Amino acid sequence: IKNIAVLTSGGDAPGMNAAIRAVVRTGIYHGINMFGVMQGYQGLISNNIKPMDARSVSNILHLGGTILKTARCLEFKTDEGQEIAYKHLEANDIDGLVVIGGDGTFTGAKRFGETFGVKVIGIPGTIDNDLSGSDFTLGYDTAINTVIEAIDKIRDTADAHDRLFFIEVMGRDSGCIALRSSIASGAEAVLLPEVETSVDDLIQKLALGAATKKSSSIVIVAEGHKQGGAYDIAKKVKETFDHYDTKVTILGHLQRGGSPSSFDRILGSRLGYAAVNALIAGESAQMVGLRGNEIKLTSIEDALSNHSFKLEDDLMEMTEVLSI
Ligand code: ATP
Repeated sequence: IKNIAVLTSGGDAPGMNAAIRAVVRTGIYHGINMFGVMQGYQGLISNNIKPMDARSVSNILHLGGTILKTARCLEFKTDEGQEIAYKHLEANDIDGLVVIGGDGTFTGAKRFGETFGVKVIGIPGTIDNDLSGSDFTLGYDTAINTVIEAIDKIRDTADAHDRLFFIEVMGRDSGCIALRSSIASGAEAVLLPEVETSVDDLIQKLALGAATKKSSSIVIVAEGHKQGGAYDIAKKVKETFDHYDTKVTILGHLQRGGSPSSFDRILGSRLGYAAVNALIAGESAQMVGLRGNEIKLTSIEDALSNHSFKLEDDLMEMTEVLSI
């Protein structure tokens, strides 16, 4: 393999820069010419492809976001868009591609690889932790740290005023961020997209807390909860339970940003290093992932199709036990 390009696509995630750095430096170490594609698949279509050297990735390990920028590119979903992208790869003589992103990015990569025979390796970079084949996706750990830092601050004011707070966190289909942050912040209850929780059960729980002298309560709501977001749930609860003054906070995009945790810096480095080694070994259409503290390959197809239920059983039980 002579020339490898790397891109970041879909939602940004902390640790993407660590992965880019590892990809570029591992390639250069092995004498491969390295290229960065700007703005995800959009950069392939507009031929925004730049050579990168070891110094192009200096001082980025600690930065959130992505130095290559990212984008959602509708044109890449069309046959014409994919063809233009391929022409530009060919013109730059690129024979290997590393894509860093989530399930949409992998869906695009799979099709691109199958149609044009491009050798492609995926790095799971999304705060949602919603891909199979990696216990943790890049950015997930940092996002949880960001969420619990915010909740700790909200807890101070909730406690000072005897308030009930509903805090909405990211997770349209996956409750991973909500579940972990509820354990780490000592939330009284957590509402997940994967689990049906009735408002009556929630009220019962909050009432029990109030009866046993809890001065404040925090309920974490994943944005994809079937009964609605934090505002909807708060409204329904308030109709019959008004023991506390009730407030709602939507954490929103702050969950995406920030300097990556040590975990995500190391994970990004390991995955970037492994992605280039996989291309050198002749692998293609694979995702590099962390399983049981080892870096393993999973076919992109399996990473996409085996959407396993990723909520840890013991954490699920603990949300009931530890919040009494
Ligand atoms: P996140 O999980 O953070 O949202 P993502 O990778 O799932 O990240 P998407 O916006 O869903 O983010 O996908 C990123 C890009 O992948 C899209 O903008 C599009 O260019 C490409 N893509 C998604 N689905 C397809 C598809 N079916 N065919 C070709 N390209 C696709």
